Amino acid sequence: EPDPTIRPEPLPEDRDRALRPQMLADFVGQAEARANLRVFIESARSRGEAMDHTLFHGPPGLGKTTLAQIMARELGVGFRMTSGPVLAKAGDLAAILTNLEARDVLFIDEIHRMSAAVEEVLYPAMEDYELDLVIGEGPAARTVRIELQPFTLVGATTRLGLLTTPLRDRFGIPTRLNFYTVDELETIVAGNARKLGVRVEGSGAREIARRARGTPRIAGRLLRRVVDFAVVEGGGVVTQALADSSLTRLGVDARGLDGADRRYLELIAQSYGGGPVGIETLSAALSESRDALEEVVEPYLLQQGLIQRTPRGRMLTQSAWTHIGLAPPRPETP
Ligand code: ADP
Repeated sequence: EPDPTIRPEPLPEDRDRALRPQMLADFVGQAEARANLRVFIESARSRGEAMDHTLFHGPPGLGKTTLAQIMARELGVGFRMTSGPVLAKAGDLAAILTNLEARDVLFIDEIHRMSAAVEEVLYPAMEDYELDLVIGEGPAARTVRIELQPFTLVGATTRLGLLTTPLRDRFGIPTRLNFYTVDELETIVAGNARKLGVRVEGSGAREIARRARGTPRIAGRLLRRVVDFAVVEGGGVVTQALADSSLTRLGVDARGLDGADRRYLELIAQSYGGGPVGIETLSAALSESRDALEEVVEPYLLQQGLIQRTPRGRMLTQSAWTHIGLAPPRPETP
């Protein structure tokens, strides 16, 4: 069973908040996105206008929500947050939009999961800061136009490909977030340790960073778990040896893969001779949703060069065979 504490689902808001960088200058990594955002924020501020709509896409836990909050703070405007699945009816979104103040940031997480009816409301709102509401039903129905305050929509998605083209086209600033380097994660772990008031040696921070799956949210979570071990068994100090033994006990291997990652690789190795095998087959065999595999498990394995996506399905690379310690099947001799 994968350890539920190391998956990148959001933590309850209050636990996460303590670690969130507050300003662009505190935000580590994503250098290109940061540099661009700095310009667009400056420009909007000096013109006194709402910043252009921004779309963040990339795997969970890389800082999409954090950057949206930072944008609002740097712009000196209000921040409202909702998510695609929460907006059930067009009226839900209309209620939020009509309550925005001038230049506010509205953050919609999982924007690819918004219904078509809700999305329709968003188009004129994004384009002209207008809402077209249908009042009444049948022959008596009529449309009223409501003027909105200018605002900035910040959308976040783990699946850019699932966004409709008209929605995608309405974002002036599409921004891709990438996995973090070990150096960047080490800086983040050291910063989090300071904020939590715990003692982490440099080599201990590096060990956590190397095993955080390129993801700040996982780095934060692993740090908390390792600190638990340090407090109870290590005299309160996170050394490299303590980080290593704690993470191994949590099922996080030397490369940062967890139980779910290894089950995925081992299934392809042992049941499908290394692939290719289709995603639906893997989903059924692992009892994991296809979405979870595509959004959470596969991006990091792809980035690490452990799997390849081919038109016929997923395949292990040589480095995956080496990592799981198995030999690839010999090619059949004709
Ligand atoms: P997403 O919205 O992409 O799922 P979040 O913005 O919620 O990710 O970030 C997840 C966690 O990781 C938060 O606790 C946040 O503080 C932390 N985090 C993300 N990016 C960074 C960063 N660049 N530097 C420091 N901490 C970060």
